[in-house]
Amino acid sequence: MNLPTIQSEELLAFLTGLLNTPSPTGFADQAIAYTEKALAELPELQLHHTRKGALVAHWRGDRSDAPRALTAHADTLGAMVKEIKPNGRLKLTKIGGFAWNTVEGEGLTVFTAAGERVRGSLLLDTASTHVYGARVNETKREDDVMEVRLDERVNDADETRALGIAVGDFVAFDPRVEVTHDFVRSRHLDDKACVACIVTALRALHAAGLAPGQDTYILISNYEEVGHGAAAGIPPEVTELLAVDMAAIGEGQTSDEVHATLCVKDSGGPYHHGLSTRLRRLASQYGIDYKVDIYPYYGSDGEAFWRAGGDVAVALIGPGVDASHNYERTHLDALIDTTRWVMAYLL
Ligand SMILES: [Zn+2]
Repeated sequence: MNLPTIQSEELLAFLTGLLNTPSPTGFADQAIAYTEKALAELPELQLHHTRKGALVAHWRGDRSDAPRALTAHADTLGAMVKEIKPNGRLKLTKIGGFAWNTVEGEGLTVFTAAGERVRGSLLLDTASTHVYGARVNETKREDDVMEVRLDERVNDADETRALGIAVGDFVAFDPRVEVTHDFVRSRHLDDKACVACIVTALRALHAAGLAPGQDTYILISNYEEVGHGAAAGIPPEVTELLAVDMAAIGEGQTSDEVHATLCVKDSGGPYHHGLSTRLRRLASQYGIDYKVDIYPYYGSDGEAFWRAGGDVAVALIGPGVDASHNYERTHLDALIDTTRWVMAYLL
């Protein structure tokens, strides 16, 4: 049996829209709503939210003796206002694991409690070469030396407070999305690329008039980057969980930007061998060229569910993403292969 055809323009359009929807962990409601809007167009799905704010879609399959779940996360790296400095600039605290130099010079938006958006950028507090000379290069990038320069006329903390900015406001870094020669370059492909793959797979099954082989739950989680995204939201009858998240590329890694990867081990240890083996077989059966890899500094929502006591088989697949938790990039080929793999699993 052949897999349904994927509409790659639709995949890229959905992905671009999602990437342009700010959603740092704890402030991911807009990205959840964006995804919900797309899934609501599929009448086969029943949708609900967890109390924590994640989105769960249920698709009744041909059988229900071994229900399955898939998960991808809509939350991303970001920051929160930690302090308003005497000069009116902001100190931030990170949300998720990344290095400050990966967002140095990036545009950003501060979301105030009143719902206003204030623009600015993240800089070293000694940013000017003409004033600070070698220090610009030599200063270690740490919380204390990174500051937000707001695009507003503020000279002290009171003027910044008058904008409605306060400690605890969420901050989103600009994704800077660009699609060139089927490369998708953007922040936060982790894990919006995989949300797009799952949505595209569900749309393609719907368009082909197909249903999953088993009762299936899709969890679009909203707290993955801080480690507990899929800890809740997966019903107890589920027997297997396929986490769909990006593959990490670098020296010594097998993953690349034009393939999907099966991750067999990461910082949390080995994934479920039986389910991983079945995914390998499915890939071979449907002509999906894939990589097998191990990620040295990585955890997934599959492990979050395991740690929360989930008694299921867990496996992890996803597209190769270059420069992960930095200015990321992947290729349409990897997104299509991941989507086809998800469809093969669903069927
Ligand atoms: Zn991720």
